[in-house]
Amino acid sequence: MGIDRGITTFAQCSDGKAILGISPLKKNLKKLAKLQRKLSRKKKVSANWRKTKLKIERLHNHIANLRKDFLHKTSTQLAQSHSLIVMEDLKVGVMAKSAKGTKENPGTNVKAKSGLSRSILDQGWQMFQQFLSYKLNWRGGELILIPPKNTSLKCRLCGHIAKENRINQAKFQCIQCGHTEGADLNASINILAEGHSVLACGVEALASTTKQELLIRKLATV
Ligand SMILES: [Zn+2]
Repeated sequence: MGIDRGITTFAQCSDGKAILGISPLKKNLKKLAKLQRKLSRKKKVSANWRKTKLKIERLHNHIANLRKDFLHKTSTQLAQSHSLIVMEDLKVGVMAKSAKGTKENPGTNVKAKSGLSRSILDQGWQMFQQFLSYKLNWRGGELILIPPKNTSLKCRLCGHIAKENRINQAKFQCIQCGHTEGADLNASINILAEGHSVLACGVEALASTTKQELLIRKLATV
């Protein structure tokens, strides 16, 4: 199965299923900001300062646990129902950039917020990849990571690659063959196809080394 990862849809699967994400940080951002303001008004290292500081730490833990729980549940379900999963090898920076673009309240504490969401988001993606990889391996399956190249701009039917194929963030419409689909779904099917070709190449490479080995052995016996 191919998976296209996103911010609003956590994972779009090539079988059509979409896994919506949870945003524990976003949900708790107001609460967190309020506590941080409260902390800044307290005298440093006083009893009340310590109390507020502890509350902030607890909230951070809570957010991390919600995310971890979600990632565990999702990766377990996926690993149980599939033996081969293909995803893009997304560099952390790319995800962080998208996260910055989705911030809802620009103007207030944006830098701190985006920095914070970035670090937590990054952690989440790496964790998801890790969980999924070892859970698949446990069952004899495999996670294949492919380089992210044109998967969202390429038509999965005719192969035409164009920026204009993307009408907007959500919709894909091929300017060559007219194929219309959800952009994430089209991408996830491309990702799966890419994974299959990586596998095929791997087998080919393996076959040629076997051939070489046979040749070497043959030469050795002569
Ligand atoms: Zn097309």
